[in-house]
Amino acid sequence: LDKERFNNNVAKIKVVVRKRPLNRKEITKKEEDIITIESNSNALTVHETKLKVDLTEYVEKHEFVFDAVLNEGVSNDEVYSQTVQPVVPLIFRRTKATCFAYGQTGSGKTYTMQPLPLKASQDILRLMHHTYWNQGFQLFVSFFEIYGGKLFDLLNDRKKLCMREDGKQQVCIVGLQEYRVSDVEAIREFIEKGNATRSTGTTGANEESSRSHAILQLAIKKSTNGSDSKPSRLVGKLSFIDLAGSERGADTTDNDKQTRIEGAEINKSLLALKECIRALDSDQGHIPFRGSKLTEVLRDSFVGDSRTVMISCISPSSGSCEHTLNTLRYADRVK
Ligand code: ADP
Ligand code: MG
Repeated sequence: LDKERFNNNVAKIKVVVRKRPLNRKEITKKEEDIITIESNSNALTVHETKLKVDLTEYVEKHEFVFDAVLNEGVSNDEVYSQTVQPVVPLIFRRTKATCFAYGQTGSGKTYTMQPLPLKASQDILRLMHHTYWNQGFQLFVSFFEIYGGKLFDLLNDRKKLCMREDGKQQVCIVGLQEYRVSDVEAIREFIEKGNATRSTGTTGANEESSRSHAILQLAIKKSTNGSDSKPSRLVGKLSFIDLAGSERGADTTDNDKQTRIEGAEINKSLLALKECIRALDSDQGHIPFRGSKLTEVLRDSFVGDSRTVMISCISPSSGSCEHTLNTLRYADRVK
């Protein structure tokens, strides 16, 4: 975290795409890699195979340009330095920053998201111990999920939580446990605990967690007189959101009623999120938070000096072409 990065101008909204490698299952099914990325380019091309009326195949190419395109083989460290790292110093100066992972189930959202809060807290603690030594800054972590429109604390046995607004545009999640942390190991334990507590239901971990949004927040606070014993006030916040599988929003015609309700809620929240980010970008005064639980919860992260990073995760496989195009179009609208 050198001086230059510390003083940089960080874009208000950054949209990044990450392509994962083909997995064994896709290779076994002889699915092909249909995403090409030129080296050192921020563009990618999807090669979609289509059928003519006479049933002969042809390929339609779709080109997309983003702030950054991360090819398979790009490490999680590199993902961090291209996405979250530049905003870390800003949260000591009242910024609220939010990083989303968007994409269909199995596209790499959790793989991408999991290491980021750990790396961020490493940098935060380093800044606290060097640049801001003895200035009373404290780091807190909380972790909860939104499932079917309801909030559950992932660091407190999935205790059900409710949200309240205090009239000053601050959202308060009543009962949410916030833990003060002062070393990276403690953060690692909280992250692991929270991930293990995510909705697993009866149908298996990935299946159920794909229907929830997981929200991990790192809050920087400052004690009012530099001493630890006094109550502290919020300075800045960094939120990491592992969104529900984007294909789940289409579960609105499923036979199972519960699945339909969850699908409708996910659909609503992903649409509301897109609208909020677009409103942020256009600097129009009104931001449509109320569209969903997700955006309401994030309300205080969108007002004031905010930064948004969207990491859209895609599978390279021909079998996922339609979902991939949907993900890229969503990201394109946010950009
Ligand atoms: P999601 O959270 O979007 O459902 P996951 O993060 O669970 O998807 O990823 C699905 C599988 O693909 C996991 O086994 C994960 O380890 C693997 N995977 C995802 N992204 C990558 C990547 N960039 N490199 C290697 N393996 C990956
Ligand atoms: Mg996941």
